[in-house]
Amino acid sequence: RRNIAVMTSGGDAPGMNAAVRAVVRAAIFRGCKAFAIREGYEGLVRGGEKYITEMKWQDVRGFLSEGGTNIGTARCMEFKERSGRLKGCLNMVKAGIDGLIVCGGDGSLTGADLFRKEWPLLIAELKEQKQISHEQYERHKNLYICGMVGSIDNDMATTDSTIGCYSALDRICRAVDYIDATANSHSRAFVVEVMGRHCGWLALMAGIATSADYILIPEKPASSQDWQDQMTKIVKNHRSKGKRKTIVIVAEGAITIDLKPISAEDVKNVLVERLGCDTRITTLGHVQRGGTAVAFDRTIATLQGVEAVKAVLELTPDTPSPLIAIDENKIRRKPLVEAVEITKSVAAAIGEKDFEKAMSLRDSE
Ligand code: ADP
Repeated sequence: RRNIAVMTSGGDAPGMNAAVRAVVRAAIFRGCKAFAIREGYEGLVRGGEKYITEMKWQDVRGFLSEGGTNIGTARCMEFKERSGRLKGCLNMVKAGIDGLIVCGGDGSLTGADLFRKEWPLLIAELKEQKQISHEQYERHKNLYICGMVGSIDNDMATTDSTIGCYSALDRICRAVDYIDATANSHSRAFVVEVMGRHCGWLALMAGIATSADYILIPEKPASSQDWQDQMTKIVKNHRSKGKRKTIVIVAEGAITIDLKPISAEDVKNVLVERLGCDTRITTLGHVQRGGTAVAFDRTIATLQGVEAVKAVLELTPDTPSPLIAIDENKIRRKPLVEAVEITKSVAAAIGEKDFEKAMSLRDSE
């Protein structure tokens, strides 16, 4: 019997609550005690019952559909330092926790992996300092970690979708549908900026789902001249065929081939100066994260939460930490380290302007 804690960390995403609910209930169902660590790694470092709370079956009632994360999330600089992780180790042992399921993005999962790698040294240090008893040391010699990916950006390697990305995509599509009416009525052009950090998935998929005239994403950078010429030609062509509205979707991470950011303002200027379009910018911002989780996010969060508990219970000290992925519609365990490393290599390759490598890394997953 292991005591299992769940934490949400990094940016919030719809479906994180469903993941917490699934972990808590699956753990209880399997005869374990379930805990929530509040405010991400911040709560782990601070410890105590306020931050590390036992969760009963009823405590997660209503979590399935709710957006955001009810157990809180935060960025925690202290956990990036060894001293912060030592405090985290002590708080876990004091609460009697053996297994930790982290639902977050690549930063959070990097932290989780590091924590498990360091664990034997951290716990030995606590024993030496007599902060924990011999019995506590013996019981908690190993930490069992499992990752779940909660992120609206869909930016994690080895999983087809992250928990939250389809809710955000749905929100973007609805917002663009609302804009459509005005665009059509006034023959306007709208430049819609969407989230996604270094990943263009949200922009690309929203562009397809709303039949945008042009999409700018970080994965397909062009020179300033090229994208401007191409966009102008396409929009001119659509307008000449009688289309009254123009929608251009820009990912927040859109860049030129020289890694210069392309802003919604840059796009607007081209539409105004080269085409004379009456152009407005709509930055969707945090609306994209809000609202309830769509059915798909509720479903994968639930199936993955159940699988995460199973994985934690099956882990041995020698097995690598898993990440619970969805791969061709199947819930699968993948090596957590590999997923984080490929994700970081893609970002690094883009930073080095090696776009071919970035694309082949993405394709190879
Ligand atoms: P995300 O998980 O969405 O990528 P962040 O990158 O902000 O978000 O990471 C969330 C938290 O995870 C950080 O505030 C920090 O506490 C922890 N974290 C991130 N990177 C590391 C790291 N390299 N080592 C230890 N902890 C980390």
